[in-house]
Amino acid sequence: MQVPAQFEYERATSIAHAVQLLGKYNGAGRLIAGGHSLIPMMKLRLARPEVLIDINEVAELGGISRVDGELRVGALVRHTELLDDDEVAQLFPILRDAEKVIADPIVRNRGTVGGSVCQADPSEDLSAAFSALRAYAVVQGAETQRIVPLRDFFVGPYETVVGPGELLVELRVPVRTGGSSAFLKVSRRAGDWAVGAVGAAVWLDGDVITEVGIGLSALGARNFVAVEAEDFLRGRSVSADVLGEAGRIAAEHCDPPVDQRGPADYKRHLAATLVTRALQLACRRAGREV
Ligand SMILES: Cc1cc2nc3c(=O)[nH]c(=O)nc-3n(C[C@H](O)[C@H](O)[C@H](O)COP(=O)(O)OP(=O)(O)OC[C@H]3O[C@@H](n4cnc5c(N)ncnc54)[C@H](O)[C@@H]3O)c2cc1C
Repeated sequence: MQVPAQFEYERATSIAHAVQLLGKYNGAGRLIAGGHSLIPMMKLRLARPEVLIDINEVAELGGISRVDGELRVGALVRHTELLDDDEVAQLFPILRDAEKVIADPIVRNRGTVGGSVCQADPSEDLSAAFSALRAYAVVQGAETQRIVPLRDFFVGPYETVVGPGELLVELRVPVRTGGSSAFLKVSRRAGDWAVGAVGAAVWLDGDVITEVGIGLSALGARNFVAVEAEDFLRGRSVSADVLGEAGRIAAEHCDPPVDQRGPADYKRHLAATLVTRALQLACRRAGREV
């Protein structure tokens, strides 16, 4: 069995302490949350931190709350907590939809929301779901705190704007009325990573789409979002044709990877179908049958 290379271990007790430890090791330290992505990478020597900085005891990073018109989800919230939260499911059904199909209970009991988005795996589901919701990331450094739209948080595969001396504190999702959301995923078997997955959030004024978010996972969308399809939808009335065209546009502009989960043309077809269906479900949940 593979084991990671040798490393030192530190346990942070607060956000300030975690930032201080990151500064102390000056780029050689790496935060560990659930460890479900980092430990396998260390075993494969794809990551080789000299020091692991454990944030599992930082209580400030936990908890789900509703403050000033926002849902705040701490970086250390486990998948299971998000899945089980009824207020979250009522406000943003997309999050329960997504969490239901992330891995299995063992991974969900340990893996965290923060670790998931910071890993920035292009096949990761929550990045697509929170991006569809137009969430913000709160990033803490030694001197400053930055609030970054999640759409600007991802720099590329496995890369985010979080600097070597910073950590993600929480995600914030604006709570707005008149909308709903949905997440659909196709995978080869239960608990597997996505062949393709789509999250959609719509806000309606009567029949008119006033705002929309479309997140794509495993389908080669830049920063997880289908911007062109969103631009097409904004200001249009909901109809089967319009949602179908949005799916076609999203598929045209994504660049799915060719891998063991299928060829690009199949995944492009999947993108079109999932975008249209996720939008339909979100509209239906918002009270607009389509
Ligand atoms: C068998 C298996 C199946 C899986 N299936 C799926 C799936 O279907 N869909 C899916 O979306 N995911 C899936 N995952 C991933 C799972 O969701 C992990 O929980 C997630 O990738 C990482 O969360 P973590 O808390 O374990 O992060 P860790 O492994 O602890 O950390 C991951 C990265 O994030 C960094 N990090 C962690 N927390 C912070 C923070 N607060 N601030 C800054 N950086 C931070 C770490 O330094 C590391 O670089 C699967 C994982 C496994 C093992």
